[in-house]
Amino acid sequence: MKVWNATEKSASRQAIAALEGGIGISTVMQVDGDGGFRMSQNGPGIFEITCESTLPPLVLTGGIHGDEKAGISILDSLIDDIVSGNQRVKRSVLLMFGNLRAMQTNGFKGCRCIEDEVGETSNLNRCFGRGYFETPRCYGEHRANEMMRAVEDFADTHGCPEVIDIHQSFAVPTLRDVRGGVADRSDYTYAMLYPVEDDLASALGWIHEQYSDIVAGAVVNDMQLRHHTFAGYMASTFGSRAATFEQGNIGYVDHSTFTPQLEDNLSRKIAGETKLDKMEGFDVWRYLRQIRKETKDFTFIDDEGNRTNAPLDFLPLPAGRIARDGHREHELRMGERLLFANSTVPIGDRAAAVIERLHTDLVPAP
Ligand SMILES: [Zn+2]
Repeated sequence: MKVWNATEKSASRQAIAALEGGIGISTVMQVDGDGGFRMSQNGPGIFEITCESTLPPLVLTGGIHGDEKAGISILDSLIDDIVSGNQRVKRSVLLMFGNLRAMQTNGFKGCRCIEDEVGETSNLNRCFGRGYFETPRCYGEHRANEMMRAVEDFADTHGCPEVIDIHQSFAVPTLRDVRGGVADRSDYTYAMLYPVEDDLASALGWIHEQYSDIVAGAVVNDMQLRHHTFAGYMASTFGSRAATFEQGNIGYVDHSTFTPQLEDNLSRKIAGETKLDKMEGFDVWRYLRQIRKETKDFTFIDDEGNRTNAPLDFLPLPAGRIARDGHREHELRMGERLLFANSTVPIGDRAAAVIERLHTDLVPAP
């Protein structure tokens, strides 16, 4: 047993060091009284907490894209609090850092993914729902195998988990940009939802009851599609309530990105407090289709066909052409908007998602 040195380095740094054959951590701890729990590191950056509880187990992931700091900092902080005894633990939890190699790049500033030349699966969040990679061609495929094994074992032992996979986006608008007239300058943070059995009411109700303090919108995925994201894989494989949380602009972790607020929320979840005291309304959006990058000449264009910057998430766009990819043009219909617009993704990956407002009485309007 190696004793955890919580003050020496964050959990993410220790996990990366373990990759290089440096510090190998295997922390076994027992907390007395009031339930007690056991925490162990089952692989690099994969921490399992076992706790007797009637609550559903929880899977929390961060750093699946290595430059999205919100999830990395939240997991570091939660793990530090758990290890140092400052966090009440009332349910079993699996905390996993995603793309350790991408997190390590650029002096730990991180990058989205490494080994872009491999194409779509260099992006760890496109590696799931394809089965195990028998001969992984890149770290993304290798890491997906490790994560899939970990969640299968976790679900076998503790039952079907709820899943929050924490990300950040490229071009997040402010609340005011999207809603107009709102005096709040904070980022428009949102959840990408995967309704289990297509039960939209249950999926939206889950977010409303438990997370509406930190999301301004929820984007409902089309479950007819095959999903290669971690949250999509968890929903379709285990029937998990699963969401990808997008916490403001990449790299920022301040209050305007709702990162500290999400950490507080997750800390309460681990402590066994599930429902919010005060629920909020939020916008609901529907995922319609993706725009896939097929050539290296992919670019977003304005209505005159001139090359232009990628549009911000959620903001209104005119109907008509929006992107050119070699000889092909992509168009938007009236009311459609873009998410994750990015012309620099690897060929074969999604260059943008197309969404529209979903009008529903299932949750209150903001
Ligand atoms: Zn991401």
